[in-house]
Amino acid sequence: MTDKKEKQEKTIIIGSGPAGMSAALYAARANLEPLVLSGMELGGQVSVTHIVENYPGFPEGIEGPKLVENFQKQAERFGTKVEFDSATEVDLSTRPFRVKTWGNEYLAETLIITTGATPRHLDIPGEKEFTGRGVSYCATCDGHFFQGKDVIVVGGGDSALEEGLFLTRYVNSVKIIHRREELRAGAILQNRAFKNDKVEFIWNTVVTEIIGDGIVDTVKLKNVKTGNEEELKTDGVFIFIGHIPNTDLYEGQLELDENGYVQVDRFMQTSVPGVYAAGEVADSHFRQVITSAGMGAGAAMQAIHFLEDHS
Ligand SMILES: Cc1cc2nc3c(=O)[nH]c(=O)nc-3n(C[C@H](O)[C@H](O)[C@H](O)COP(=O)(O)OP(=O)(O)OC[C@H]3O[C@@H](n4cnc5c(N)ncnc54)[C@H](O)[C@@H]3O)c2cc1C
Repeated sequence: MTDKKEKQEKTIIIGSGPAGMSAALYAARANLEPLVLSGMELGGQVSVTHIVENYPGFPEGIEGPKLVENFQKQAERFGTKVEFDSATEVDLSTRPFRVKTWGNEYLAETLIITTGATPRHLDIPGEKEFTGRGVSYCATCDGHFFQGKDVIVVGGGDSALEEGLFLTRYVNSVKIIHRREELRAGAILQNRAFKNDKVEFIWNTVVTEIIGDGIVDTVKLKNVKTGNEEELKTDGVFIFIGHIPNTDLYEGQLELDENGYVQVDRFMQTSVPGVYAAGEVADSHFRQVITSAGMGAGAAMQAIHFLEDHS
């Protein structure tokens, strides 16, 4: 870090998804005038969600971008400052903590990390184009839209099987496409999937392209053993090949679990006093707007107490 004069903040929130904006709302209402560093995706994953139907208070559901706008407006109403900037470096070795961004350097008395986790992508043609139009990374979020439809699930781990089985509540059929001929998922899940009449497996196969006209219609498949290619009609492509927590900045400074998620206690406290983490960056299990928002609110409440105790 350089010797440039740092701006002083009571609370900096890194990330502007549901966890970050909820933390901002709570911190702002305690007059902390928090600074939110939005990152490249203002509003986080919700900004790319067509409609959110499981966040309470919106009986008809709410479009993702509208929910993002509401979150931001509500947090700003009480004094939150939102900067369209990303944290590029943090120094958590002493308090106040140093945060460097593309444009500025800051000192923060407390830090709330809400940088989320990114679903792993297949990186194939059509994937980006059809996200929210038949391509999904969340069965809990989108399963309901596929009543009576035929879908595929890509993956062979616990989450692919769990989410595939969850989808059978709604859909007519689930074809699980797996690049190997053995699953990584646990035995109980495997048994459940093998016994379920709606679930079928396509082994040694990868999806190479997603095709449609406005919405998903077909996928191109390739058998990795024989090299054979074929097309399969489908209404939905659910991709469960893992998540990558956005925690590079904190490596060696905060305790992370074996998958790279920030470790927190039930008060969202990280291994460094005064540094909190909330939402998907610290939660590989629930991965929802409401759970992330709840964690964000909790982290801010703890940061408020911390500042009261250390002023
Ligand atoms: C297509 C899709 C549909 C979904 N549908 C639903 C649904 O219907 N219902 C539901 O409950 N959940 C849904 N989810 C899941 C939900 O969106 C996530 O659980 C939730 O957004 C996680 O919130 P978060 O705040 O923890 O992280 P994110 O939303 O991932 O936000 C992370 C934030 O961190 C920022 N960031 C990252 N790195 C930096 C950095 N270095 N500096 C500054 N900022 C940084 C990003 O710009 C972003 O603003 C969906 C997800 C997807 C992808």
